[in-house]
Amino acid sequence: MPGTAARSLSIHRQGSRREWPVAVKTRIALFGPPGSGKGTQAKYLAECWELRHISTGLILRQAIAAKTSVGRKAEVYMNKGDLVPDHLVHQVVEDSLGQVGYDNFVLDGYPRRLLQAQQLDKILGERGRHLDMVLLLTLPTEIIVKRLTRRRVHKLTGEVFHLDYKPPTGIDPKLLVLRPDDRRDVVWERLRVYRAQTQPVEDWYRKRGLLIEIDADGSIDEVHERVDLALAGGSP
Ligand code: ADP
Repeated sequence: MPGTAARSLSIHRQGSRREWPVAVKTRIALFGPPGSGKGTQAKYLAECWELRHISTGLILRQAIAAKTSVGRKAEVYMNKGDLVPDHLVHQVVEDSLGQVGYDNFVLDGYPRRLLQAQQLDKILGERGRHLDMVLLLTLPTEIIVKRLTRRRVHKLTGEVFHLDYKPPTGIDPKLLVLRPDDRRDVVWERLRVYRAQTQPVEDWYRKRGLLIEIDADGSIDEVHERVDLALAGGSP
């Protein structure tokens, strides 16, 4: 079952817009250390290419806000910067993938450790499917720390701002919160966990020839364009 679909690529370059039909990959996992802009890019990618954005972090945060039993269990781990136990995440992913018929999705934040990658292979393999492409956003650590500790989230809408790069103009400061896991000490812990647990997953996909690296140092639009090109088979 081919994981591609004919879509039209529209890219702004040097003031002009170009459109051409391309065969895009439709079963994608997006990787990147915390702060690499993974969530933002996954959202754009999903909108642009009509894919379902499946963010395990977002789903877990919604579960925490709704005080569900999964949310209550996940919260303890997330606030420390640790990974949530696999069985909690697995159910979330299996449900979300099932809703889209195991096609046309971009996974954001999953798989995050080798066992999860194997579980994902199993879920897809049982339906005659596999991941088509794994995109990795890369960024130096000092930029990561600056990005995360100055990130703010709108308490009611969930919109993400940045005090330097995307200032929340005209918004009541009381409505803007620092994610508990964006505190400086927790950010370092998340980076440590990423190196220990998730980098081996990157290597695993690299060896299978599925991984494409994208430089995530740039404006949101620049990175978005690189991601688009990678998806359409060009060079990022
Ligand atoms: P970031 O990638 O910036 O850390 P996310 O929103 O993807 O942000 O994840 C936030 C937190 O949610 C993680 O630190 C972790 O505690 C939890 N989480 C998200 N996805 C997973 C996963 N696949 N496995 C375990 N924990 C996860």
